[in-house]
Amino acid sequence: MSTDVRVRFAPSPTGPLHIGGLRTALFNYLFAKKHNGTFILRIEDTDQNRYVEGAENYIVDALNWCEIPFDEGPGKEGNYGPYRQSERKHMYSAYAEELVDKGAAYYAFDTTKELAQARTTAEAKKETFIYNHNNRLTFTNSLTLKADEVQKRILQGDAYTIRFKPELKTLDMFDEIRKGIEIDTSLLDDKVLFKSDGMPTYHLANVVDDHLMKISHVIRGEEWLPSMALHVLLYESFDWERPKFAHLPLILKPTGKGKLSKRDGDKMGFSVFPLEWKDPTSGEISTGFKEDGFLPEAMVNILAFLGWNPGSDQEIFSVQELITAFSLEKVNSSGAKYDPEKAKWFQQQWFVHQDNAVAGAAFAKALQEKNISYGSEDYVSIVTGMVKERAVFTEDLFKLAGFFFEAPKTYDEKNAKKAWNEATNEIMSNVIKVIKATEDDSAAGLSAAIKGWITSEDMSFGKVMMPLRIALVGSLMGPDVFEIASMVGKNETVNRIETAMQKLG
Ligand code: GLU
Repeated sequence: MSTDVRVRFAPSPTGPLHIGGLRTALFNYLFAKKHNGTFILRIEDTDQNRYVEGAENYIVDALNWCEIPFDEGPGKEGNYGPYRQSERKHMYSAYAEELVDKGAAYYAFDTTKELAQARTTAEAKKETFIYNHNNRLTFTNSLTLKADEVQKRILQGDAYTIRFKPELKTLDMFDEIRKGIEIDTSLLDDKVLFKSDGMPTYHLANVVDDHLMKISHVIRGEEWLPSMALHVLLYESFDWERPKFAHLPLILKPTGKGKLSKRDGDKMGFSVFPLEWKDPTSGEISTGFKEDGFLPEAMVNILAFLGWNPGSDQEIFSVQELITAFSLEKVNSSGAKYDPEKAKWFQQQWFVHQDNAVAGAAFAKALQEKNISYGSEDYVSIVTGMVKERAVFTEDLFKLAGFFFEAPKTYDEKNAKKAWNEATNEIMSNVIKVIKATEDDSAAGLSAAIKGWITSEDMSFGKVMMPLRIALVGSLMGPDVFEIASMVGKNETVNRIETAMQKLG
């Protein structure tokens, strides 16, 4: 069984992928890899009206960024391609016809106008219009027209759709997460499977492709749960083995009330898309986790906990660890609240977890972008290692460690005032002499020399240490002051003290 696991992520390229969509992709990926199976990307682009330029690339870029690659999909042709439904459109009509032949579907010739009329009439009676077993025999379709009339209409090119005719019964279904579900199929409508423009609807294309691509498990968002009955009935009508289904919980607003939307992110200042997205029509830019500074490892970890938990205290998981720990049994059926603070916590954990060289390389790149010279990458790595515990994003390193690269441009007024009095300039001139005379310019060497001098002068440490830190950093923050002095070097330390003497003395 385990080698037969084939799952798919089947987004419609109608815009940027929301984190909910990326979570669906991740859970499919984890499930596939856990069972040595295949993870497929299928682009469901049959609805040309909703097609958005760039959306497919965005989806692929987002998967690549998170390092959850698909095994088969556009550009990675396997044995079941093509993987874009628009390139498969010639395949679907035969399946729709097959259902008509089997009596499970029928041609419907109703015009848009007639349907609108029926809808208005129903609404006037305060009823919702639904085209199904209750009224299908009052419409113009192959169930009400004579066979030769149907043929004639088709031959003369009349527009028609193909509608499904659900068998009336109590349908027993099983969802891996929600368990047994019972549906009275008389409540369903006669869904259009094939449109008058010659394209299948989502339902037909989705089921046909899942069958043809030998999908073993359909893992998708809860918003598709209402379609499950129709899909199961379609499998029954085709007499195909149905895949297992698992509907992942909704991702909710931080308040827990309602689905998380882009608007919530805008209002509260967080991203709901993995990558930045520029709307091709309006030009509007939506921010992304990547550009906000999140690491892909953090993104994956955040997504994993939206609806799943390992059942233990462990919270930090790499993709590999997730593959081992993941199971559909541990996915919750109730909605998963998105907590932006928790997301930052995951990011902080992964940020600190990084190798100094890796975090340093990212910081070096950021320094370069701001035209700040940094010496060598090794230097940046050491600096990064000294302060990274207090950072969440690379961007934070500027504040925490900017003084390792540039002399302070301003001084923290309150503390500068406290640190500098009439006697300070003279003291600092002597400190400069001590520094210049010190051969050992390591942190320990500088510390020993300066502290030795302070002791020999019988001075209080604060009188030296505070101004020294203000001169080097511009404020009272930062790691050990001798470490800083040693890192920036004796000359630069002396320069900074002299500047501070001029500006603050
Ligand atoms: N094309 C659907 C979507 O955009 C796929 C739903 C499914 O996975 O069946 O989410």
